[in-house]
Amino acid sequence: MKLKIAVLAGDGIGPEVTHEATEILRAVAELGGHEFTFVPGLIGGVAITEAGSPLPTETLDLALDADAVFLGAVGDPKFGALAPDKRPEAGLLQIRQALGGFANLRPSIAYSALSGNSPLRPEVTEGADILFVRELLGGLYFGAPRWWDKTSSANGGGEAINTMRYTRDEVVRVARVAFELAEKRRKKVTSVDKANVLEVSQLWRATVTEVAKEYPGVTLEHQLVDSMAMHLMNIPRNFDVVLTENLFGDILSDEAAVITGSLGMLPSATIGGAVNLYEPVHGSAPDIAGTGKANPLGAILTAAMVLRHSAHLEAEAAAIEAAVQHVLNEGYRTADLARLSAGATASEAQPVVSTREMGKLVQQALTEATDRRQSMHAV
Ligand code: NAD
Repeated sequence: MKLKIAVLAGDGIGPEVTHEATEILRAVAELGGHEFTFVPGLIGGVAITEAGSPLPTETLDLALDADAVFLGAVGDPKFGALAPDKRPEAGLLQIRQALGGFANLRPSIAYSALSGNSPLRPEVTEGADILFVRELLGGLYFGAPRWWDKTSSANGGGEAINTMRYTRDEVVRVARVAFELAEKRRKKVTSVDKANVLEVSQLWRATVTEVAKEYPGVTLEHQLVDSMAMHLMNIPRNFDVVLTENLFGDILSDEAAVITGSLGMLPSATIGGAVNLYEPVHGSAPDIAGTGKANPLGAILTAAMVLRHSAHLEAEAAAIEAAVQHVLNEGYRTADLARLSAGATASEAQPVVSTREMGKLVQQALTEATDRRQSMHAV
């Protein structure tokens, strides 16, 4: 399998975690005889410094010419005084828009080794493995009209409008993504709406119900967004694929992130556009940049998503996820994950490893598991 990946490492811890993710992809390529090409590009603060724009044209061309785009993180406080459309984060918004992905995928998984890291009790999070499919290009964030006319004399400028709008086609295309992913998982889709109040949600619910008929092997349930917010915290293991419109998905996927317990663990993918875009959920974390404290697992799990959704290398993606789990089960932790329980001695403490060490441990686990599989085949 050949894959050309545009690598936009960005700012802060972006380059550190991206390095570990690409090292894992290189290892997968070597172990499986694949040909992955990595083409670096500038984005964010580093792009402003070196090319005068948060998303230089060369980067956009490179991204549009690739099979997948891997983005580390953008954001640098030294550009905080610039206008919003000139700041590093503008590069991120521009590339998301240019690539045109309409389905944002965010897994929320309870790792048993990290059960103590979640604010939820282990018996609540146990077994949770949710995949959010959030519609990304419609709804309240993009609907027109939208305005806040501060100078208007009407209501003393105290009136503003946003519009929640969806077309049937926009719902159909994202629903199909959710059902197709559910077919490969535990075959359940939970569609979230507010159909008891909003007409847009009534269209959403009717359309998703219609799309469900194309996927007889998948069970569909509907949940109202307010009760969903509670169910996620009470019985997260009840959910498989959760399908939402833009605003509800933004809020619920962040809420469900507490199941995993650390921002540094969360991967994401945006699919359906010209080229799929992959990025860990976290930002550039300027407070720890360059200290070796960044957790690279979110980026490494994002690399697994590249293989699953852009290369259809499911076994290889699952092998990366298993290697991450193995390293966590062995007790290795980056600083954000380490917990020293009261009264524990230094020798009982979990080994705290650097970004680089964590990346190497995952790579080692991946290689060992592959060697074991190959020697079993040979017997
Ligand atoms: P952040 O995600 O960068 O950091 C929040 C906190 O989590 C910090 O304490 C940080 O040290 C910690 N953290 C984040 N990722 C970590 C990791 N992998 N390992 C260990 N600890 C980690 O969010 P923020 O501080 O609000 O934003 C910092 C900058 O990043 C801002 O410029 C913001 O605009 C930008 N940002 C970018 C993205 C992106 O590129 N997708 C997302 C969010 C924020």
